[in-house]
Amino acid sequence: MKNKDDLGIVYICGAGPGDPKLLTLRALELINQAEVILYDRLIGEEIINLFPESAEKIYVGRNVGDPTTHQNKTNELMLKNASMGKTVLRLKGGDPFIFGRGGEEAEILIENNIPFEIIPGITSGIGAAVYSGIPLTHRRYGSAVAFVTGHEDPDKKTPEVNWEKLFDSVDTVVVYMGTEKLEIIIEKIKNGKKDMEKPVAIVQNGTLKNQKVITGNLNNIVNLSKQAKISPPAIVIIGDIVKLNDKINWFNQASRTENARERKTERKN
Ligand code: SAH
Repeated sequence: MKNKDDLGIVYICGAGPGDPKLLTLRALELINQAEVILYDRLIGEEIINLFPESAEKIYVGRNVGDPTTHQNKTNELMLKNASMGKTVLRLKGGDPFIFGRGGEEAEILIENNIPFEIIPGITSGIGAAVYSGIPLTHRRYGSAVAFVTGHEDPDKKTPEVNWEKLFDSVDTVVVYMGTEKLEIIIEKIKNGKKDMEKPVAIVQNGTLKNQKVITGNLNNIVNLSKQAKISPPAIVIIGDIVKLNDKINWFNQASRTENARERKTERKN
């Protein structure tokens, strides 16, 4: 058996929602130190460009139509490289523990006696909300918020998110991986006899330069989303708090300045 000192280490690290400026200092430090970087589909170009020449970069994201076995490949690569004494950076979109399988990967490392550390990242639900001007809590509109997946493990025997009852106890719901099944999800919420005027926002490519935000309500959001050709990655935010997007929306600086200018001219006239 290998001496423990010969082992490398695996850093399971969140890269944040997309904007490279939202990487933590620790993430950047590890990017610069890593010998091997295993990265996901959600890691964008701007972050990949920060990877040093010297690091071996391996894409381990799932491609459309791939079987789910890509996770096994990721696990094998983590174990193999760490056993060879390498410093491995397992870089994941958002936060590793929010719908990111970080827990499963840590368990595997423990089973194989591989040293590891875990570094949090800004999860896309929070990044997308902040960059679209939707405060997830607010003294007037929301005291409880839930992070929910719209796409559960198909092998799971007993799902599932209780969409019908979700709004009985929380004010704001942040849905990850929700766009593909949006219609079904909204149908279930409807069965819970919820106010169909409840505001909904969808934030595609949150925090990135091509961020796209649409807003509507439970009644019309499915149509609006089709019209706007929303595609993953996107976060769906449901709750009264979404109304604030109109006011706080700050990221689209150009249009904001434009609006401010228009308001000023209106006032003058
Ligand atoms: N661990 C990640 C989530 C991985 S699940 C995190 O903490 O953010 C993948 C889902 O995350 C996508 O389907 C989408 O719902 C969401 N997502 C990731 N990046 C996003 C982004 N930049 N904008 C909007 N949604 C994003």
